[in-house]
Parts: sequence; structure tokens; C-alpha cells
Amino acid sequence: MRFDQFDLSEPILRALEDQGYEHATPIQEGTIEHLLRDRDVVGQAQTGTGKTAAFMLPILERVDPDDKNLQALVLTPTRELCLQVADAARGFSKYLDGVTVLPVYGGSPIREQMDRLARGPQVVVGTPGRVLDLLGRGKMHLADTRMVVLDEADEMLSMGFIDDVRDILRRAPWGRQTALFSATMPEPIRKLADEELHSPRVVTVTPETLAVERIEQRMIEVEPHGKLAALDRVLQAERPKCALVFARTKLGAARLTDDLLRKDYRVRALHGDLSQSQRDSVMISFRAGRVPLLVATDVASRGLDVSQITHVINYDLPDDAEVYVHRIGRTGRVGRDGAAISLVSKKEARKLADILALTGRPITPWRPPGEDHVEGADATDVPKPSGNGSGPVEGVDGATRDHAAGRADRPRRRRRARRGARNPSSPSAPTANTAPSNDSATSTPPSG
Ligand code: AMP
Repeated sequence: MRFDQFDLSEPILRALEDQGYEHATPIQEGTIEHLLRDRDVVGQAQTGTGKTAAFMLPILERVDPDDKNLQALVLTPTRELCLQVADAARGFSKYLDGVTVLPVYGGSPIREQMDRLARGPQVVVGTPGRVLDLLGRGKMHLADTRMVVLDEADEMLSMGFIDDVRDILRRAPWGRQTALFSATMPEPIRKLADEELHSPRVVTVTPETLAVERIEQRMIEVEPHGKLAALDRVLQAERPKCALVFARTKLGAARLTDDLLRKDYRVRALHGDLSQSQRDSVMISFRAGRVPLLVATDVASRGLDVSQITHVINYDLPDDAEVYVHRIGRTGRVGRDGAAISLVSKKEARKLADILALTGRPITPWRPPGEDHVEGADATDVPKPSGNGSGPVEGVDGATRDHAAGRADRPRRRRRARRGARNPSSPSAPTANTAPSNDSATSTPPSG
């Protein structure tokens, strides 16, 4: 469905055109019409599905620019997501005269936010704690708020904000419109939806339509001590324009960043030990493309959305398979392809098996081209491809079955696996940003 088929006004359509939005994503197609008609909505959708536009376009369409009261409130779990949603809203509303969107979040001077609130933004995007604080001080009023959106409700729950969210909803007028977006639907979120929303339309983006589907997943077997060398080779081979490298711990992220700096990479770290201003400066450099590599922990990267991420590299696999899905969803944002490359040691075999079971998607064994030997590549306890070994790793059963047979034909399989991984006609063809290969077996140029 094209955006001009929705009941959206010309200034919004023009802004969408500027941003290259033509067709609505499934979550947008499923929710925009309902939201424009003042219906409550539950949208089960992850980051990367286009959910921001799904709720923000109807909000902007419906606010009254002449009314300087707060008409729409969006709650987000993190400051990063708050800023990102507010940015997106500003982009969508750039031709709408008189509409102001204000982000409010903790960790930043409240006075400034109070001053801006006094100027009468129609839309506020905020984190629950700061919103409550501003409400408590009488600097923010919800009496005229007709639309409330809970973005990433499950994250708000896991971060312990659910009571704050309820508190805020209680202060908003009865009869308002409420939309709740969440990647998962744990019981407390279902309950919240039951209690706070009125006959909501439920729109679920099925896994097939998630951005993850378009992400080319590869893995490299490696010994733990060989990870740095393997990462070096990956970076040399791929020359990513914008890559997010995940480490498991803050210390691990800091060390890896130092190691990469010693190897002359332009890299910054994003982890919980950094101050807010350090984090901001890291994000500004990364977004602007000045620093193409970011080493992050999961917590620090929550809500981080940089649409041009070409590669997600799992230096360490996460403990939780769902986190893997969140991580790799940072690339392959709507309308773009992306690659996810995992460095997997034998110690992580169990985690890999969990990921395969959860996603049901293949992960292609791979080696950076031009190397006959990747340090530690003989790790043997990592699940292997099933069948003749040329295909991707598909499932725990196949992987373990093939394990014993895996060694003898490994060199041949690696070559085949490599060809498979680079075959441009396969659905997992490399992105246009893949660096030219110097390996004749793998040098087929990407063709799209
Ligand atoms: P979101 O899930 O809202 O974080 O969106 C993920 C990314 O997809 C963002 O970079 C958006 O700018 C982009 N995006 C969302 N909807 C569309 C669309 N209909 N066409 C093209 N890009 C989109």
C-alpha cells in the first residue's frame, strides 16, 4: 500500500517523499488507518518494522497546530529511543506549520525542558520517570491529551517502569486514544492493554515480515582466543561502512575497543560506564559516519537506531536468544539489507543452538575470503551444517547429527559454504557494501 492511499495530508506526504518512504510496511498498513479513526491499537512489532511512523503519522495528522496544549504523549523506555522518535517526528512534520514535538528525558537539565514545555508543544515524547517528574511539578498537563502511545512497552516493563506508565495513564483523560506497541506480549503487558485500552485492534507483524528476514546471517567458528584475529579479518574483508560490534560485558567492550584502536581502527565504545555526555558524543560520531565502528553492550545499545548500520557483528553471542534477534535487527532496517556475522566459539555452541531454534533461520558458516586458515577455526563443538555440509546451519537436530561427520570434508565444505554465502542469487546475497574479495573462489561480484 502506498502512503498516498492513506488519508494523510499533503505536507506529511511531501515529508515522507523526501525521506524515500513510498510503500507502507506491514505494521504501518495494519495500524495507520485505525489510529486515524481514533481507535485504540495494540501493535506487536519490533524495532525495524517501521512502528515509529505507524503511530507518529496519525498523531501528526490529527494534532491541531493552533492549539498549544499538549495533545499527544509518546512514552519510550530509554532516552535514546525518545530522541530517535522525536527526531523521526520532526522529520515527518517539517512541512506542518506550527506543530512542535518536544523530547523530555532524564539525565538532562529539567529546567530547559520546562522552558520548552512552557512554549506549548503539541506532542511530547518522553521517558516515564521524567514525564512523571514534570507532571508532579505542574509543568506538564495532560488535560487535553487525546492520544497516548506506549512505545516498546515490554522494554518499559523489563526496565521497571510499568507502574510509572500506569500512573501517567491514570492522569490522562478518560476517552483518550491509546496505542501500545511491543515486540513481545508478556502477561503484565497483556493485562495493561486489557485494563487501559478500549476494544483495541490488534495488529501483529508475523516473524516473516520482520526485518530479520532480510538479514544475511553468517557465522565463523573460532576459539575464544582467536576472536580478535577473526574480527580483524572480518573487518578487513567486509570494510563495513557502519558496524555495530556486540560484546557481552562492559569490560569486554572496553578491552575490545582498545584492541581495535591499537590496530588503527576508527572505533568507539558504548557501554554503561560512560557518562551521558560521553555516550552522546559517541552516538553523534557514529551517526554522522565519522566513526564506522561501535563496540557496544546490549544494555547500552537499547533503543539505539541508526538506520544505516550495514553490519552487526556478534563478538560474543548473547546469553539469551531473543537478544540475538534484537541485536541483528539493528541492521537490515526497512528498505535496506544487512549482514549479521557471529564469531562462535565451542563454548557458545549451546547459545548458537538456542538461536537457531528460536529464529528458525539459517546461519551460513563462513570465513573471511582470502584466508586459508582462521585461527581457531577447528573448534569442533559448534553446531555444523546438516546434510552435505554445503548449506547453512538450519537447526539443532541437523547440526548435532552432522557433527561427527563434520571433520573429514571440512576444507571442501568451507569452500562450498563460502560460495554459498557469497552467491548473489541466493536470498542471503551480500550487501552492496561488501568489500571486493581477493579470493577467486568467492569473488563473484554482488549483483543485487
Ligand atoms: P522503526 O521500526 O520505526 O524504528 O523504523 C526502522 C527504520 O525504517 C527507520 O530507519 C525508518 O526511517 C525506516 N522506515 C520506516 N518505515 C519505512 C517505510 N515505509 N519506507 C522506508 N523506510 C521506512
